[in-house]
Amino acid sequence: MKHIKGIIFDLDGTLVTSSLDFVAIKQEIGCPDHEDVLAFLHSLPEHQQQDAMDVIHRHELQDAHSSEWIPSARSFIDECFVKQIPMAIVTRNSHHPTHVKVKRNAIPIQHIVTRETSKPKPDPSALLDIADHFKLPTESILMVGDYKYDLQAGRNAKMPTCLINYQSLPDYAHLADYTFEDFGLLHRAMF
Ligand SMILES: [Mg+2]
Repeated sequence: MKHIKGIIFDLDGTLVTSSLDFVAIKQEIGCPDHEDVLAFLHSLPEHQQQDAMDVIHRHELQDAHSSEWIPSARSFIDECFVKQIPMAIVTRNSHHPTHVKVKRNAIPIQHIVTRETSKPKPDPSALLDIADHFKLPTESILMVGDYKYDLQAGRNAKMPTCLINYQSLPDYAHLADYTFEDFGLLHRAMF
């Protein structure tokens, strides 16, 4: 993986634990099981959007206050710092819970994009902006995440994609150029 010169991480389930209860959120806001929460939110009439948003924010904040580092993610990031590999985080979370997680876990990554400032993954806009900022070609930036939106966003941005933190390969694993069950294995492959 010598060609990797920069890394973009997802946050929840990638760098830190998340116990967001999507089933409960969907039930509370009336979102059908198969639908994406954010897409559903934007489909609601304006007067209902704020109520649904409040429900989501409440769940996100609860989750943020109990988030912990995923094992080995911290030492991987530390090594990236040593190797001067630029890093960023792109999350579908909103700013406030993201800030709580970053502060609580002392995540040392400065460049963080939340859903207020960019279209949510799988849209590649945030990833492409970061490539510009890093002044690196997209082919040299690894998109690391635990869910299909991360991999789809990476593919849409023409970045190599890495699926991380799984117990058995999910049905969207074909969207990943690299698959590592945990950060320890990614660490060994990169360094
Ligand atoms: Mg995730």
